[in-house]
Amino acid sequence: MTPPVAPLAEPLVDRFGRVHRDLRVSLTDRCSLRCTYCMPADGVPWLPGADTLTTDELVRVAGVAVGLGVTEIRLTGGEPLLRRDVVDVVRRMARLEGPAGRPEVSMTTNALRLPMLAGPLREAGLARVNVSLDTLDRERFRALTRRDRLDDTLAGIAAADAAGLRPIKLNAVAMRGVNDDEVVDLVAFAVERGYEMRFIEQMPLDAGHTWVRARMVTGEEILERLRGRYALTEVPGRGSAPAQLWHVDGGPATVGVIASVTAPFCGACDRVRLTADGQLRSCLFARTETDLRVLLRSGADDDALATAFRRCIAGKRPGHDIDDPTFLQPDRPMSAIGG
Ligand code: SAM
Ligand code: SF4
Repeated sequence: MTPPVAPLAEPLVDRFGRVHRDLRVSLTDRCSLRCTYCMPADGVPWLPGADTLTTDELVRVAGVAVGLGVTEIRLTGGEPLLRRDVVDVVRRMARLEGPAGRPEVSMTTNALRLPMLAGPLREAGLARVNVSLDTLDRERFRALTRRDRLDDTLAGIAAADAAGLRPIKLNAVAMRGVNDDEVVDLVAFAVERGYEMRFIEQMPLDAGHTWVRARMVTGEEILERLRGRYALTEVPGRGSAPAQLWHVDGGPATVGVIASVTAPFCGACDRVRLTADGQLRSCLFARTETDLRVLLRSGADDDALATAFRRCIAGKRPGHDIDDPTFLQPDRPMSAIGG
């Protein structure tokens, strides 16, 4: 049965005129890896299971968002493929209808379960995947993720490709003395296979709060290294995308740099985030959250949920203020926000 088309609503606009069309949904805060920039080695304080939104609750919130003009839904986590209902979630979200039609449903994943799930996810309506791949060296991968799973990640990427979950984007967080000497090799790996490599500046979102700005590898440094091997030409028309794209040796291959810290793109941000326990966040670095779980579980109707969305967006700050002396890292680590 096709769900009813949501009524035309005012779009989700904040005080600065930014229209929100991209919903990031964290399906779980659990993960099969322990990347050093994201999670501690052990002793992770998991969200209580009873607080995790059910399939119906997730789809309902996504439906309200799509009715408010959201056109892209990105499933993330933690590791989204650890959710047992992930194929069902994709199927139901991909069939939502809003004023702009059906949303594009994509996923950010560590790929470990893609050999098993890429086909069913594609069939359920998943459009494409972004996969974290910080290194091509097995020992480094083991040290960085604290798990010996490089081969499984590579098999997952190949499975996504075979299933047609394209374009495949690979994400690497550049870290000084860890993988910053690998940027050219990672681009070569991606270009050979028709994927897009993207480098992300490390952000203060690690569970251990150990981030130090001075140690961060900047987007400019990454570009400098790449220019030693490739001719890069800027791709125009970035819009609200976090990544600035560059054609590699004249294209069509591209490489992206996400300079969230040194060149913030907050002015064009169109993203809003739902955590696995039903909290709406207007920014990765937000200090406040809007509690949708309590609304969902107290019989609130869709209008009340839409009002909560609007209230959350109305409170969105102009930028993340990482460089402000008063900046405070959010209490939740990246794995519990949804990257
Ligand atoms: N587990 C999935 C994965 O790794 O792709 C999805 C969740 S992960 C939190 C989403 C993205 O956030 C990944 O691309 C990861 O590299 C990025 N990320 C995590 N911690 C980060 C940090 N401190 N700074 C920058 N990016 C980070
Ligand atoms: Fe897990 Fe992704 Fe965080 Fe790595 S970045 S620990 S794969 S959630």
